[in-house]
Amino acid sequence: MSDYVIPDPEPKPIDEKLSMELRHLADNAVLKGKPSGDEKCENCRFYLEPYKEISYCWHQKLRILVGAEWWCQWWDPIPEDQP
Ligand code: SF4
Repeated sequence: MSDYVIPDPEPKPIDEKLSMELRHLADNAVLKGKPSGDEKCENCRFYLEPYKEISYCWHQKLRILVGAEWWCQWWDPIPEDQP
């Protein structure tokens, strides 16, 4: 039997780099993991798939996955003429 022990997974430099970049994006957007009153990603025009709990935010300053219950300072209502 081998003595080799599979090492525990640990973050790599790329993970720290991405984490810092995403943190910077989130700070700039004042992104919160909860709604602001009635405003939340789910009812924001930039939330791509409003029927999903997690979806892509296509706001040009974010372009990341966000949660339906999250909120940021760029929240904008879904236009009336949009389905
Ligand atoms: S712009 Fe802000 S509130 Fe709107 S979907 Fe993106 S993260 Fe959510």
